[in-house]
Formats: sequence, structure tokens, C-alpha cells
Amino acid sequence: MIGGASTTLVFGFSAIGSSLTICLEMSGTVLKLTVAGASKQLWFFFTRQDAASAAGAAETADIAKQRPIDPQTLICAYRSTPQVFEYCLIGNTKSTAGSCPWIWHRKFAAEARDAVFTTTRAIDRGTEYILPMETGASPPARDQSSPGSYGQLTNGQAMHVLICGGGVIGASIAYFLSRRGIRATVFERTGVACAASGKSGGFLALDWCDGTPLAALARRSFALHARLAEVDADWGYRRLTTYGGFGGRRSRLGGAYNLDWLSADARVTRQLGSTETTAQVHPARFSEAMMRAAQARGAALRIGRISDVVRRADGAVAGIVVDGETVAGDAVVVAMGPWSILAAAWLPLPAVFGLKGHSLVFGTGASVPAQALFCEYREANGAVEAPELFPRPDGTTYVCAISSESPLPVDPAAVAPDPGAIERLEAICRELSPALASAKILARQACFRPITPDGLPLIGRVPGVEGAYLATGHSVWSMLNAPATGEAMAELIADGTARTVDLAPFDPARLPSLDPARRHSRAGG
Ligand SMILES: Cc1cc2nc3c(=O)[nH]c(=O)nc-3n(C[C@H](O)[C@H](O)[C@H](O)COP(=O)(O)OP(=O)(O)OC[C@H]3O[C@@H](n4cnc5c(N)ncnc54)[C@H](O)[C@@H]3O)c2cc1C
Repeated sequence: MIGGASTTLVFGFSAIGSSLTICLEMSGTVLKLTVAGASKQLWFFFTRQDAASAAGAAETADIAKQRPIDPQTLICAYRSTPQVFEYCLIGNTKSTAGSCPWIWHRKFAAEARDAVFTTTRAIDRGTEYILPMETGASPPARDQSSPGSYGQLTNGQAMHVLICGGGVIGASIAYFLSRRGIRATVFERTGVACAASGKSGGFLALDWCDGTPLAALARRSFALHARLAEVDADWGYRRLTTYGGFGGRRSRLGGAYNLDWLSADARVTRQLGSTETTAQVHPARFSEAMMRAAQARGAALRIGRISDVVRRADGAVAGIVVDGETVAGDAVVVAMGPWSILAAAWLPLPAVFGLKGHSLVFGTGASVPAQALFCEYREANGAVEAPELFPRPDGTTYVCAISSESPLPVDPAAVAPDPGAIERLEAICRELSPALASAKILARQACFRPITPDGLPLIGRVPGVEGAYLATGHSVWSMLNAPATGEAMAELIADGTARTVDLAPFDPARLPSLDPARRHSRAGG
């Protein structure tokens, strides 16, 4: 706070030739600090209050990030090598989520204005968070030499695949490997489906990814969901009709459809899907069922925290470290959702981020039919949210909305809703539907979806490391795309190539791996 006013600091930067420019905005005043002369290692080190008197107003060009920052934030900028600028901000973020001490770091090529994200960590009251940073790392060369690992090793022994992460992706890979008779063990820190795989919507669509690189994966997966459900449907698989509409302020004009479980103010304007094209699963039950089915075919589940990948002298994977103990294996699959970024300290992996979402589960009984609703909702303060409502066959209705960029706790068990988010979501639900307003709330929760810099999942071999694989970054479509991902990964690991789906668009080698120098924490942990 400066002069008692709530202050937002926006900072952007540009690096041209030997000068570094950082843009700061405080209470509407934009300051531009330009530091010229590349010879000095450490250029400046100051608090935000120092910065307020250090330079004059300037244009806001190159502003890239927005964070409310404590006045005592330390800003440190330096040139680490002749080619690389770095700067670091150390302070307290004040957000709706409270105050969080953090270090934010950016590194980029001297002549570059663009950079890609990597990560660092922060500690707040004992909880460790992963925070975005940036690096100018360049993409690794594609490695065509790795022959991959095969279901049968060259010495004739059966291979053992170590799967890191017991979400829907890890469980599905274990299931499809086990169907091929390949030994798989899933290592999970907290519990199967403890994260987004247990708290997501579980909505499935046949053709909503058409026209994108995800189309074939989604179509294959939609078909697999139906086929799996024929075997054992106790994870709440059903087809449903899906609508789109509006709610909240200015929604009061009539809609084309009348869903009688919605309030009169809700306007349903479109049918987005039919029972031919949209379906649902209960996400936790589906993930757990995949894991159980894998176990029934010989796969194993072990609860423990993975902290490293062990490599042979030739660089190939030899195992993982779980709770301090080395477990030997012939292939390692990283499928830790947003926590896959932790594995970038162990293997050359691209960045993966977590985007938080909030959800409620209502006990609605039989009052809500099999009608999903995607809604645009304008809150009283003008904010626009996009609630998604999924009534389930078990007599519950799931509603999610309100995304936030809150930092990802290193411990999946420490994920909690942002302050105020659940109350806002409850108010939205009360307005949208009398059936929700009168129903008991069974769960108030938050979880992180894994996202990648280009929005596509990472499914395939880790470039340059024999026996290492990655399957994550499915964003809002992991429940949908888990079966086809599991099937294709099993083919890739067992046969050396995926046949049912072309994995080329999801090749991890398309994105730069994180800079090794940045993979280790700067702020503890
Ligand atoms: C609000 C919301 C709604 C969604 N709705 C839908 C939907 O309707 N349809 C859809 O298709 N998708 C949906 N998604 C997306 C989907 O649910 C997630 O993207 C998906 O669950 C991710 O699965 P995962 O297996 O990759 O990761 P996760 O479910 O995050 O699993 C990763 C696992 O790794 C474990 N782990 C982490 N660190 C370690 C460690 N060091 N050692 C061992 N284990 C570790 C964690 O405990 C966790 O169990 C939604 C997502 C959100 C956030």
C-alpha cells in the first residue's frame, strides 16, 4: 500500500542490446526503469518503495504480468551471462487467496522479448507452492535414435513399467498395459484420484475437439468409454443431453429451451449435444475402477512420494526413488498431472502448469434429469463466470466454475479452495436453480487441471532418455481422453509405436524442456 491506497504492481520488461527495461505500475502511475550497461553482474536491488522514486512515468509497452505486490518486494535484476538477462522479485503476493511469500524469477535471452515458463517454489505457513517463472531455454533437438522400450526386453524378461501418478491418466495407462500382460506399478503420493481426477466434471463429448489436433484422440476415447461401460458401468457412465445458456444479470429474456429444474432467470438458448454425442462418468469412480481393473490383471499400486528418476550410466531410466527407496524398472511414465513439473528436475521435460478450478457437489436426488448445462453467468459485480452443471445418475449434481491462477501446493493433499470462491459459486448455483438452492451441499472442493504452454497434451517419449515417457497436460479433457491415452501409451511402450491414435501432435519433443539450471528450487523445498 502506498498512501493508503490499494496498489497493483504490473511489471513488464524488454531487453534490447545491452539495456534492460522493467515497467512498473503503482496506483495507476507507470514507471519505467531502464538500466543500461551490460558489464555489471548485479544491476540493481531495491524495494518497491525505492522503485517509486527511482524513475519517471513511461508507456506500458511490454507489460506481461499482473500481480498485487507488497511494498517491501525486493527486485533484483542482473545479467547472468553475456547472452542472458535475469531478474528476480522476492516479496509477498496479496491476493484474494491471502498473503503468500514468493520468489518470481525471469530469465531470457538478451535479444529476446519472448520467453517460456518454468517454475520455482514458495513457502507459505509450511505449505510449499509451485510458482511460474520463465526461461529462455531453446527446444531440444528431436532424438530419433531412441528405439524405445518394448514389452519384452532383449534378455527375454518381461518388462516392469513404473507409472508416476495415480490420477485417471496413470490408472488408464496401467489398465491398458495390464490388458497386454505387461507388469505395471502405479506410484501415487496421496491416493488414487485424490486430485482433479476425483474432483472434475467427468463430462465427455464425441465431437467438441473436432477441427483441432485432439479430434482423433477424443473420438477414439469417447468410443472406448462406451465400450468400457459395457463391461462394468458402475462408475456412473451415461449418455445425456447438453445445453448452453445464460444466467445472472441481464439474462432475463426467454430462451429456446425450458429446463424445469432451472430458475426462471436462466436462459437456455442452445442444445450443444445429444445422447449420441455427450456422456458422463463419475470421475473418482471411473479412475478407481480403472486402477482396480488393472490390479485384477496383475498391476500394483503403491502409495509413496516419488522424488527422483534413477538413470543408468548410458542415460536410460533404471528406476525411480519412492519414499527414499530406489525401485528398479525398465520404463518410467510421468503422469503426475500438474505435478509433472516436479519431474522436470529428474528428466528433460517441458513445462506443465496447474490451473485451479472450484466445484460443488449437491445431493439433488431425482429432481434433476440427465441434462448437462454450460452457462455464461454474470455476477452482480459484473464478473462473468462459466459454470458447468452435470447432474449424475447417483442423485448428485456437480457444478464447477471460478478458475484461478493460485499456486500449486507441492503436496496434493494441501489443495484447498481460494477464500471466497466457494461462497461465490454457492450464490451462482442458488440463482441458477431452485433444485440446487434447496439441496444439501455434499462437497466444496478445488483442484488443478494440468495445462501446457501450447494447450495440447504431452503424450509420448521423453526425448533423449530411453525408457522415459510422459502423459499429462490434458487440461479440461483428461477424463474424456484418458482411455485413448492409456491405450496409445500401452502400444507405444509395448510395441514401440502407437497404432490406434497418431501421437505426433502430442510429442513432448515439440516443446522446449525446462532449463536444467532452473529446475531446482530457489526458495526452499
Ligand atoms: C474443475 C475441473 C473440472 C474438470 N472437468 C472435466 C470434465 O468434465 N471432463 C474432462 O474430460 N476433464 C475435466 N477436467 C480435467 C481433468 O479432470 C484433469 O485434467 C485430470 O483429472 C488430470 O488427470 P491426471 O491423471 O493427469 O492428473 P491428476 O488427477 O492431477 O493426478 C496426478 C496424481 O499425481 C500424484 N502425485 C503428485 N505428486 C506426486 C509425487 N511426488 N509422487 C507420487 N504421486 C504424485 C497426485 O497425488 C495425483 O493423484 C476438469 C478439471 C477441473 C480442474
